[in-house]
Amino acid sequence: MLACDFTRLGHECERMEKAGADWLHLDVMDGHFVDNISFGPPIIDWIEKVATVLLDVHLMVERPGDFVPRLRTSNITIHVEPDYDVAGTLKEIRSQGATCGLAISPPTPFEKVEPFLDQIDLLLVMTVNPGFGGQKFIPAMVEKVERAARIRKERGLDFHIEVDGGINHETGALCRKSGANVMVAGTAVFRAPDAAEAIAELRR
Ligand code: ZN
Repeated sequence: MLACDFTRLGHECERMEKAGADWLHLDVMDGHFVDNISFGPPIIDWIEKVATVLLDVHLMVERPGDFVPRLRTSNITIHVEPDYDVAGTLKEIRSQGATCGLAISPPTPFEKVEPFLDQIDLLLVMTVNPGFGGQKFIPAMVEKVERAARIRKERGLDFHIEVDGGINHETGALCRKSGANVMVAGTAVFRAPDAAEAIAELRR
């Protein structure tokens, strides 16, 4: 939703659902963990009133523990990088009835998320540096997707592998081949002349 027309937020949610989006991905930024501010729990409360699909909240914040209790959404993803109790926060997300995701930024080594892979419903591999929409896909991140897919298979786990940043039908296809099954697309869908066609093309 970061690429939407925020003066028409409700309309944009409806437009994406009608175009065939399975989930709505909401990027929360606090101006500390990333050098940008987007929106927080009050706006998400409004989105919950109009959305009928799963809300996928991506917390790009310095203190995820402060935000989790203020959200009721279907999936909440926290980043592995800040200094806080990751395992405890994942548990807390599940205890409030949501599914939990863990996100990894491009400069962070994969080893950081490995200990948590059996505790998550979703692994979010950032394919651009977090903070701004409209950035170019970093191809080297595909290796993290492959590694996650390999471990998922070896350990018999079933978490989603989600890619986020610079995703269009070409980069999306590359990620799909590597094992990703959730594609977050912003500008590729919102700025397309026909959003439904853009989503259909991603799906293909
Ligand atoms: Zn995101």
